[in-house]
Amino acid sequence: MDAYVIDGRAFAAKLKSDVAKQVAFLKEKHDLTPGLAVVLVGEDPASQVYVRNKKISVKDAGMNSYAHQLEPDVSEAELLSLVNKLNDDPMVHGILVQLPLPGHINKAAVINAVSPQKDVDGFHVINAGLLATGGQGMVPCTPLGCLMLLQDRLGDMSGLHAVIIGRSNLVGKPLAQLLLKENCTVTIAHSRTRDLPSVVRRGDIVVAAVGVAELVKGDWIKPAATVIDVGINRISNDDGTTRLVGDVEFTQAARHAAAITPVPGGVGPMTIAVLLKNTISAACRQAGVDEPVI
Ligand code: NAP
Repeated sequence: MDAYVIDGRAFAAKLKSDVAKQVAFLKEKHDLTPGLAVVLVGEDPASQVYVRNKKISVKDAGMNSYAHQLEPDVSEAELLSLVNKLNDDPMVHGILVQLPLPGHINKAAVINAVSPQKDVDGFHVINAGLLATGGQGMVPCTPLGCLMLLQDRLGDMSGLHAVIIGRSNLVGKPLAQLLLKENCTVTIAHSRTRDLPSVVRRGDIVVAAVGVAELVKGDWIKPAATVIDVGINRISNDDGTTRLVGDVEFTQAARHAAAITPVPGGVGPMTIAVLLKNTISAACRQAGVDEPVI
């Protein structure tokens, strides 16, 4: 069987175009321009690329973008003071502090200093708690992007067994909460899971969020399962060049699955698109207006 390849790039492009229409509506009807502040500490090259792409996408959508670049040796107190200023700024509806942070800064203190209403990454402990208890908070972008791809492909997921490999606060745990809400039976596997292949073989839905190149083998995939590969791993080719692969052996898994996301071009592009969507939600909630339906 050759699986349907889920096109995350096309899905994300449509989502971004819908967001741009929502922004235009909010500007015209409510004089509201959503604004996202992105804070980058230090000069980590990967983080610089992520932040640059986020700024471009925010501006393309017609939103206001506020960039703050801080020196790598900035103190935690200075960073917290900037976050507090942004919390109080009515033009800023979303705040994103790019991770990772330098080792001398307490990541949890910074994440939890962001106002929960402006926490478009959904990492604040209040937003994690709201997600776990069924309330309306901000949901982390990557798992929400995975959910959108699954909903688009499968519609009603009630009763399906979802196996998520990875239990990070960033991806695995919030996605488990989202899929529980969809009435899936959810199994979370991790590095201590015994007999991972047989656990994965039970999944009607398999989500790999591990960070180990091609860990999930093709013959672990139940026939006709839907596979979402969150992993982004750079590996070397024989000729010394490098390429990106996911956490799943794509070609082999595609012989068993009904649908599968590629890497690159699957979950990756969804993350920024959902960040824009979360900024719209944050702006509307703060302004007390309904989110425009496009
Ligand atoms: P993480 O915090 O390092 O968590 C990795 C998880 O995988 C942990 O729960 C770990 O188990 C588990 N794990 C590690 N080795 C394992 C093994 N051999 N068998 C089973 N489980 C294993 O990573 P993350 O932040 O969730 O990210 C996961 C991957 O997704 C990375 O490749 C990352 O680059 C990618 N990612 C992509 C996007 C995107 O936009 N596409 C966004 C975020 C992350 P323990 O808890 O037991 O250690």
